[in-house]
Amino acid sequence: MRHDAAWRTKRTLAPGWRVAVRRMIGPMARPPGPEASTAGGSSASGRGRHGRGRPSATSGLGLPPSTRACLFDLDGVLTQTARLHAAAWELTFDGYLRRRAEERGEDYVPFDARRDYDEHVDGRPRADGVRAFLASRGIILPEGSPEDPPELETVWGIGNRKNVVVAAMLREHGVEAYGGSVRYVETARRRGLGCAVVSASANCRAVLAAAGIDGLFDTVVDGELAAREHLAGKPEPDTYLAAAHLLGVAPSEGAVFEDALAGVAAGRAGHFGWVVGVDRVGQATELRAHGADVVVEDLADLLDDR
Ligand SMILES: [Mg+2]
Repeated sequence: MRHDAAWRTKRTLAPGWRVAVRRMIGPMARPPGPEASTAGGSSASGRGRHGRGRPSATSGLGLPPSTRACLFDLDGVLTQTARLHAAAWELTFDGYLRRRAEERGEDYVPFDARRDYDEHVDGRPRADGVRAFLASRGIILPEGSPEDPPELETVWGIGNRKNVVVAAMLREHGVEAYGGSVRYVETARRRGLGCAVVSASANCRAVLAAAGIDGLFDTVVDGELAAREHLAGKPEPDTYLAAAHLLGVAPSEGAVFEDALAGVAAGRAGHFGWVVGVDRVGQATELRAHGADVVVEDLADLLDDR
């Protein structure tokens, strides 16, 4: 079912959109969760309890009844690319760290593709990730510029090197969407909910197309739009707020779906109505601590009709 005219989305952000969205955030209280009995939504086991005598657009989706739109992260939520990114960062950082240790006669401590990735890199814009990880090792490099070649040892140079590595990996391995996520998005669309992708990735649209799911979304807020509009990356809420604006909903009417700690933090910071943590790697506790209302291993876990 196509969305009605109210869902037709703008492709660019109008001047003053931040003020309009901030005004919508206001001091609003968070809406009640998908079901009163789960008080805070610490469990995803609410199947079968929605819509009894009270059908709503969110029935069977595990969302608060006030939800009008779903905002999905890309890597690790829609597509099976989060581990690929972690591997690309590992390859990139380890090359730099090894060379630096040899030059200085210091011990080489490799990048931890689990801990370092989750804490410093996952979900953030590339340059922010480079800066945050290097800072955790007490390393400060010159910023450089977005045009820096990938061999240059600047924040942007290292970020661009990672992009080259990830592009090669994507070419070699392809992209697959998570089946449960596709089913969830299709169900949300059938119910008339707006659907957006919100990703720090500059390759977002190409990845969506490669996975064959680019037609499922009303709008995409990706790394390119963020750069153009000077939107701060996750964990700041700006990219999610921009997506809510483009979909024409208040943040309190939006549900955020995220697998990154920085991403659930962005959802919480933006006062979104519901934040779903997607736990692909066994970090449910951390996702809750950073702002997830509920944590699931797969979006299909939220569907009533499994
Ligand atoms: Mg992600």
